[in-house]
Amino acid sequence: MKNKPLYLDYAATTPVDARVLEAMLPYFTDKFGNAASTTHIHGEEAKKAVDRASTDISDLINAYPDEIIYTSGATEAINTALKGLYWSHSLTRSHIITVKTEHKAVLDTCRWLEEIGSEVTYLNVDHQGLIDWEEYASALKLNPLVVCIMHANNETGVIQEIGKIAQLAKESGAYFMTDATQSFGKMDIDVVKQNIDLLCFSAHKIYGPKGIGGLYIKRNIKLTPLIHGGGHQRNYRSGTLNVPGIVGLGEASKIAKKEMREDAKKLQKLRDQLEHQLIADNMARVNGSLTQRLPNISNFEIINCSADEFLLRNKNLLSASTGSACSSEVIQHSHVLAAMNIHSPAVRLSFGKATETAFALQLAFQRI
Ligand SMILES: *Cc1c(COP(=O)(O)O)cnc(C)c1O
Repeated sequence: MKNKPLYLDYAATTPVDARVLEAMLPYFTDKFGNAASTTHIHGEEAKKAVDRASTDISDLINAYPDEIIYTSGATEAINTALKGLYWSHSLTRSHIITVKTEHKAVLDTCRWLEEIGSEVTYLNVDHQGLIDWEEYASALKLNPLVVCIMHANNETGVIQEIGKIAQLAKESGAYFMTDATQSFGKMDIDVVKQNIDLLCFSAHKIYGPKGIGGLYIKRNIKLTPLIHGGGHQRNYRSGTLNVPGIVGLGEASKIAKKEMREDAKKLQKLRDQLEHQLIADNMARVNGSLTQRLPNISNFEIINCSADEFLLRNKNLLSASTGSACSSEVIQHSHVLAAMNIHSPAVRLSFGKATETAFALQLAFQRI
């Protein structure tokens, strides 16, 4: 396709980094072994590659390699964690605390768990997208099993103070789980310092392939598995490992550890320049906290133009979204913005490694 539009939807997915693809390729052909077939060299070779990936991933969040398990993505990791905790603990505790602005993977799982007997508190957020500490403290009095609060929001980029949230969860005897799909590989995470018991992530948000992700599970946490069949991955998730995918996720994590700070600096500068311009021209109102936010996401309301119309009109110029990828098939107002008491439709721009300039975007605005 000639002159493809400028891609500004990195929060939905990212291209595979050429270095990641290169690392993966041998594991489709030459090094095709089954990582569970440890009686021979082919299997050992695959297992070594998986172990190396686990080391690179755990290095990024200060975990141990044996605390990482692999899934088909963050959605499965979230299901594994929440349902697994519920099934293994529901005789004693079944209350879940989460937030209204979570990804649907968390919200839909919680709704389903409610149907089978769990109780769920959905915390409110303020206009900035941040939780209310008093409301959280009173929810903690209900003897919760787990507090599940995302690190960075996929629509607004707003970052919750997970270290403090987890500390309070720990003091009340609850596990702390976080969907870190947007922050993993983009900002510092330390599962020890931040008291994180379970953490979900995905390769395709950090320049790795689609269909592979994982879950950090702190040692000795009991989870009933979602998928049975052979007891792979310490019985947390059975099934032959997706070795090329895992190698890709490992390589993407290794590269992220080296490059995330530089990338963040560059993208924040670009994003801030753009927002300042739009605000100065009275063209947009930015949604969410301006201080506690990922550097690469901008969510704003366009003044004098509907967000859908803006994207439709500029489809040949830019690929951006009105919110999360999952909800844009049916056009409905974002549950994240609604929770923040924002009722006008918004555009989400998310920047990434190949974003050098927001020129096309400025062009689009000139045509409003
Ligand atoms: C993308 C995303 C998910 C889902 O990840 P998959 O790997 O595509 O299943 C979950 N949570 C957040 C915050 C996301 O951004």
